[in-house]
Amino acid sequence: MNSVTYNIPAGMVAAYRGRQVVVRSHDPAEIIQHLSDDDLDNVQYIQLLSPYVAPETLMLLANWGRDVRLDIVIRHPALEFPLLYNFSRLLDKHPIRASIAVKPGFAKAVRLALALKFAVKLEIEQPEPALIEEMAEVLDLYLHRPNVSQPVEYFHSIFLSLYQQEPATLWVVQEEDPEYFRFVTDDGVETVSPRFAGVDPKNKTIARSEESLEARPLEVIECDTCEFLKCCGGYFKWPNRNFSCEGVKTIFGTLNGAAVELRADLATYAALHGGASHDEKSFVGDLSSNK
Ligand code: SF4
Repeated sequence: MNSVTYNIPAGMVAAYRGRQVVVRSHDPAEIIQHLSDDDLDNVQYIQLLSPYVAPETLMLLANWGRDVRLDIVIRHPALEFPLLYNFSRLLDKHPIRASIAVKPGFAKAVRLALALKFAVKLEIEQPEPALIEEMAEVLDLYLHRPNVSQPVEYFHSIFLSLYQQEPATLWVVQEEDPEYFRFVTDDGVETVSPRFAGVDPKNKTIARSEESLEARPLEVIECDTCEFLKCCGGYFKWPNRNFSCEGVKTIFGTLNGAAVELRADLATYAALHGGASHDEKSFVGDLSSNK
């Protein structure tokens, strides 16, 4: 049976004791107050819902007894990105990830997060064409800048999946697969993620679209003929099934092209050096553990 991780408000730690959790709050002090040392063994990471945290409150995290992964939610990247600087002092103690909403100006926030050595997760919905350009810019940064040492999700996991030709879907990478993740609302209702408020986690039809496929058998469903269905799983057809995937497919295409190119380069290297399986394994290992 798969282990499920629950994203819970800090006030519900006691109710979810013994289960794998992500503990969220706007206030680091509230998180620290509710978590005992024993609880920390089951904490995947703690999530700050806003980067507006007073310096003295940040010091609480800096002086907290245990190193715990910290996720900072950036909902308004064009406005909030300078606040990321305030968290750099915590990096000695806590691995940090910035979860950045894909909204106009988000590339600037990604650049700063990466410069500060934070991992990045793109919080993406159904991006407009203008955002696809900005995503392509960030993807180029991730793929081609040697000074980028931290992963940018979802690019990183999908690239590895395409390179290794092993399955991984956006639902898992984005922590929205109900087999593995549940988001518990402030009212205690279990759902899939904040995007899916009101959707029963057991309703697997969301893994393809917001309606079951049987509901419209005569329609040609874009996902069924999409070359990226295996790694996307229909992620971009929710909530609006009529969303045009032209833009997001170019992003998948670039990731796939880079994966194919890397495989070809390593095969050439192996042929020239009489087999380089060790080099290849260590290279992929580096990719998996870091960028
Ligand atoms: S990219 Fe669009 S069409 Fe392709 S699988 Fe994803 S949601 Fe479906």
